[in-house]
Amino acid sequence: MFATLSDRLADTFKNLRGKGRLSEADIDATAREIRIALLEADVALPVVREFVAAIKERARGEEVSGALNPAQQVIKIVNEELVAILGGETRRLRYAKTGPTVIMLAGLQGAGKTTLAAKLALWLKEQGKTPMLVACDLQRPNAVNQLQVNGERVGVPVFAPEPGNGVGDPVSVARASVEEAKRKLHDVVIVDTAGRLGVDAELMQQAADIRDAIAPDEVLFVVDAMIGQDAVTTAQAFLDGVGFDGVVLTKLDGDARGGAALSIASVTGRPVMFASNGEKMTDFDLFHPDRMASRILDMGDVMTLIEQAEKAFDQAEALKAAEKLAGNGEFTLEDFLAQMQQLKKLGSMSKIMGMLPGMGQFRQQLENFDDREIDRIEAIIRSMTPAERDNPKIIDGSRRMRIAKGSGRTVTEVNQLVDRFFEARKMMGQLARGGGIPGMPGMPG
Ligand code: GDP
Repeated sequence: MFATLSDRLADTFKNLRGKGRLSEADIDATAREIRIALLEADVALPVVREFVAAIKERARGEEVSGALNPAQQVIKIVNEELVAILGGETRRLRYAKTGPTVIMLAGLQGAGKTTLAAKLALWLKEQGKTPMLVACDLQRPNAVNQLQVNGERVGVPVFAPEPGNGVGDPVSVARASVEEAKRKLHDVVIVDTAGRLGVDAELMQQAADIRDAIAPDEVLFVVDAMIGQDAVTTAQAFLDGVGFDGVVLTKLDGDARGGAALSIASVTGRPVMFASNGEKMTDFDLFHPDRMASRILDMGDVMTLIEQAEKAFDQAEALKAAEKLAGNGEFTLEDFLAQMQQLKKLGSMSKIMGMLPGMGQFRQQLENFDDREIDRIEAIIRSMTPAERDNPKIIDGSRRMRIAKGSGRTVTEVNQLVDRFFEARKMMGQLARGGGIPGMPGMPG
């Protein structure tokens, strides 16, 4: 996501490095490069124009700051403008004051609505809500069933028309679902509506009828970020036809350009509220404009990383590991395995690393990182006996052969793992004793 834009902007800023002050020509050149970068990222033209004009104006007018050099000043301006076009402050869900909060999803077929409905339900459930899903997509064959399957996956009940009653009428289903939610004390109702392959009047009318029948607290427009400029046109059509309060971008994992994300809030005047970035039910979160801007500028997204770590990591495990590292006990392969498993819960390695600042330059390597590597390590450690995990020194030649056979890996791989483990343990021991990392010059003081 945003890879091209990130790279382009990084190059632009590089050209400014070492400059004492920005001349008019520097500002013009920078503005031109930013313009190209945005256009290449598929950002809508009016948004690009406005963005570049703002950057130019501010770069000219900026006070000479003692703390920041010109390159940093431009980065600061670009960052602030990016946050602004992405919608400014994080927009959170508005819950109803009384009765269930009704959230209606609208969008084209294939946008990822049904998947998103379940992701949103899971997300709400994790915050202590008791959501209910409603299947009002009675057009697409199998849509009801798909929602039921997804609902089951996340453990959220699905309200759907009785089978055998013909196709059913989505407006009545929607209306009945809100009554059902009141009866069963669900505090959030998520209504999945039908999409079509393209925008058409009948689809808009149906969505508008459902909206009128249930008066949703939030209408969310769900859009596939991979469709590029079309996302903006479609959004405009839904805004006119149904109206919506916020945008959900899906498939952010697949789009390297990401212009839709950058354009849609500006063009529609509606904030991006959620982002969906993968096939897993947990690949979903609130959309934070400031964090996204940080990522685009390769300043990292440490906040999200910390939040995910807090969710995934077992506090007790983490404490135990920290104690071992401090030298109050020997770090064993068992601990190593536990750490690997915790790391795996965080998601793919490339996603984790992508959130660290300055990782843009390693993008290629990150994309090539094979997450199965962790599975292979796990298989090897699992083929060891408890005694071997506890005291890897006893792992001799014949044990290595047995472990290799048991795990379906080669002896070389077993050797590599054991060697790496000893290396890591040696280094951790030195760190814990305050010796610094070997091969690194000592820190002053
Ligand atoms: P709907 O027609 O709008 O209900 O769309 P679906 O929920 O059926 O999604 C269409 C396809 O997109 C399915 O194959 C989903 O698995 C896939 N999909 C949905 N969200 C994401 C996402 O965030 N990332 C990726 N890679 N695929 C997604």
